[in-house]
Amino acid sequence: MNGKPLAVQVGPWRISALLDGRMRLDGGGMWGVVPKALWQRLTPAAEDNTIELALRPFLLEREGLKVVLEPGIGGHLDAKWTEIYALDRATTLESSLRALGLAPADITHVVASHCHFDHIGGWITRAARGELAPLFPRAEHWAPRSEIAAAKAHDPVRKGGYRAEDVLVIERAGLLRAYTGDQELLPGLLAHEAAGHSDGVSVLTVNESGPGETAIFWADVVPTSHHIQPSYIMAYDLDVPRSFASRSKWLTRAAAEGWLGLFYHDREHAFGRVRAVGERYVFEPRLESGFVRA
Ligand SMILES: [Zn+2]
Repeated sequence: MNGKPLAVQVGPWRISALLDGRMRLDGGGMWGVVPKALWQRLTPAAEDNTIELALRPFLLEREGLKVVLEPGIGGHLDAKWTEIYALDRATTLESSLRALGLAPADITHVVASHCHFDHIGGWITRAARGELAPLFPRAEHWAPRSEIAAAKAHDPVRKGGYRAEDVLVIERAGLLRAYTGDQELLPGLLAHEAAGHSDGVSVLTVNESGPGETAIFWADVVPTSHHIQPSYIMAYDLDVPRSFASRSKWLTRAAAEGWLGLFYHDREHAFGRVRAVGERYVFEPRLESGFVRA
């Protein structure tokens, strides 16, 4: 990564956009019933129909707290998975933290929106003898209770998105904490269940009730700045009507209250707002959140 990660101040929290590499997923999977003629203009597909996505953890800091929000995909996947997802990890969670002068042992908390492998794999790493171990040895690791259960369940409908080891390694180390429904995880950091994409996926808000700006981490509820019409639902989403309801609810609120969005998979924009214009939403990037190439 060139220089330091981009950062914004939201109330008492400083939020930096990190990067744990990039991956490619099938455009049809990312766009569901949206016609390719439409999405191709927004997220250009390669010859194999894949589109490029970022894997973008955020660092949240306030007095004494250093929180990694959504820890990325990690470097422990085997050659087959690395090839299937065209993983490019020229920049990693660890290297982007290092650019801020931080080591894994400095992190106090890790918070996950849900337990899909491309969102939490980055909280484990291969230790000296090749065994999997927590990357952040001193951090509390938070994830929704129903997502922890889904990751362990090997349910045939859900299993493609989860890897049980991602949660088992953290649980065995005694570092895993579960949250449920709407919960304040840390002062000014709130989780809100927004299920549909998966059973327990949550959006996280920063400084929702304090003075000054509020931010919302969209997770896979709104994976990119292009997925901002409520009907633009991914084919990966488990429960389409529920996803539509969750997406409508939170897009309405974020637009009405002018919240700053944090985007995990958007290849260009880490930060930006949605604004309602008639029946539709438009995206307004935050100017300083340009795309930093590795
Ligand atoms: Zn997901």
